Amino acid sequence: MSESGAAAVAAGFEELYGAAPHGVWAAPGRVNLIGEYTDFNEGFVMPLALPHTAVAAVSRRDDGVLRLHSADIDGPVVELRVDELQPGTDTGWAAYPAGVVWVLRGAGHAVTGADIHLASTVPTGAGLSSSAALEVVTALALNDLFELGLTRPELAKLAQRAENDFVGVPCGVMDQTASACCTEGNALHLDCRDLSIRQVPFDLSAHGLQLLVVDSRVKHALGDGAYAERREGCETGARALGVSHLRDIAYEELPAALAKLDDERVRRYVRHVVSDDHRVDQVIALLDAGDVRAIGPVLTEGHASLRDDLRISCPELDLVVSTANAAGALGARMTGGGFGGSAVVLVEESDAETVTKSVMEAFAAAGYTAPRVFPAVPSAGARRIA
Ligand code: ADP
Ligand code: MG
Repeated sequence: MSESGAAAVAAGFEELYGAAPHGVWAAPGRVNLIGEYTDFNEGFVMPLALPHTAVAAVSRRDDGVLRLHSADIDGPVVELRVDELQPGTDTGWAAYPAGVVWVLRGAGHAVTGADIHLASTVPTGAGLSSSAALEVVTALALNDLFELGLTRPELAKLAQRAENDFVGVPCGVMDQTASACCTEGNALHLDCRDLSIRQVPFDLSAHGLQLLVVDSRVKHALGDGAYAERREGCETGARALGVSHLRDIAYEELPAALAKLDDERVRRYVRHVVSDDHRVDQVIALLDAGDVRAIGPVLTEGHASLRDDLRISCPELDLVVSTANAAGALGARMTGGGFGGSAVVLVEESDAETVTKSVMEAFAAAGYTAPRVFPAVPSAGARRIA
């Protein structure tokens, strides 16, 4: 968000609470370039931070009161007591920041209250992690104001725990790590086993390229329960192969591993996970070599795997990928949990308009809601902005 955005959120805070905030922080949404459903298999993912951010103006309090307000939600200030926070309390959107306070206190940090007012430019429910942006901006602000001295990866882990245990969403750690740890001009290679990270150069504009995000604007009900079902299938596969997680099956061992599995469904899930971990390796090697264009076909192969093996795509996302590729894109794939949400499309900068137009026309012809398309400029992770 621009500096004027920061000023607007600070002004909103002062109007609500009657004094200027102690500071203003920002944390971005993210999009995953490659590595899908690999995180809970202790494999690899490669997200990048978006220019879209949640911005929070925050002051510390020492009287146990937590006040929360979002400029994007119609409703009054939510007022809670930090020592009464409990998972399952229905606080709506406020559960995300409140969960962070709860988890920090549970970890022994003396967070004694806060006033928070926030606004976000991260689209919600589009698979771009508006929820992680909210958690991470809260965690970073409290870390600074209460001088907790936590590192970025530690803040990400705590923010994930807030979403898992307080909000009740069983997400992996990728979203929060991306929001907390990404840097401008890079994608983030995250090893979901030991949580080690590496910044991988992904300077699209230097190469005359764009990565378009296409928000399909749909979310199919089919997705409910699918995550748990895929997770169970992967665990069954790992057990049958005698490993703790599918991460432990090397790509070279995949044919032999598949031959040992007699359940067709489990075989497909194993093939997706092991091959997507391999695609992360391929993308990293290409980016390290500066051959950014060559990742396009790897993205498209990743889509085929999500569509045919994991079976989490949907007609709208398939249409984005086939139309974009037919219109000259270098490659494309759905991204995130599937059954709707967004796709990423790698294009020559000079082709961005033609490809966007083709996708819009194809959606109109199919009678679908017009998608939202914007470039994913690899941006900075969470930071203090005022
Ligand atoms: P995603 O993280 O993919 O955008 P989620 O369902 O995980 O989707 O998170 C979306 C939820 O996060 C919203 O329903 C809302 O509760 C909360 N949220 C996101 N942005 C804001 C905001 N600007 N103000 C208040 N709540 C928000
Ligand atoms: Mg989310």
